[in-house]
Amino acid sequence: MVIGIDMDDTICSTNERIIIEADKYDKEVLGGSGIKNIDAYEFTEMMGWPSEMKGQFFADKLEHIMDNAEIKENAKEVINKLHDEGNKIVFISFRKGKYIKDPYLLTKNWLDRNGVHYDKIYVDTGSKVDECISENVNLFIDDKESHCEDVASAGIDVLLFTNAYNHDEKRFRRVDNWNQVYDYVKEKNNG
Ligand SMILES: [Mg+2]
Repeated sequence: MVIGIDMDDTICSTNERIIIEADKYDKEVLGGSGIKNIDAYEFTEMMGWPSEMKGQFFADKLEHIMDNAEIKENAKEVINKLHDEGNKIVFISFRKGKYIKDPYLLTKNWLDRNGVHYDKIYVDTGSKVDECISENVNLFIDDKESHCEDVASAGIDVLLFTNAYNHDEKRFRRVDNWNQVYDYVKEKNNG
């Protein structure tokens, strides 16, 4: 089976790292008191920042954030096991060059440093459906509803990885952790 996998908030906890770094940035660089409203849906509202501050923060910190995002529990173990069992692993990330010098190298270095085995990496994608089609992806895993929607519309099986913002989404089969991904692939391979 060919498995297409998103990076941010699917294999690594990028959003959690953004919040930690924004809190630090507000205190250390902007002289503020950190997060204003932890329950806010909008990032700038959470930080109490004017909208242009978000761009400045990402320009200063996004590369560092992605480089330091923690791998999700059991992600390495499950992906490497699936790879050892003969599945092809393709990472497909929306990461773009706007705030990052080299999104491919950043992603490759992170995967290598975290000991994750894979066959191919795509970055700077559009909707991700083109990469899924050209790689003959059988199963696609992403935390973003719009990517799942586009890929599913091409007739490809998708799993929505739960994140802090997608709890209300009901259209796709949901996984909360990597062990559930493994069980689903086993079920699909045997079915
Ligand atoms: Mg993502």
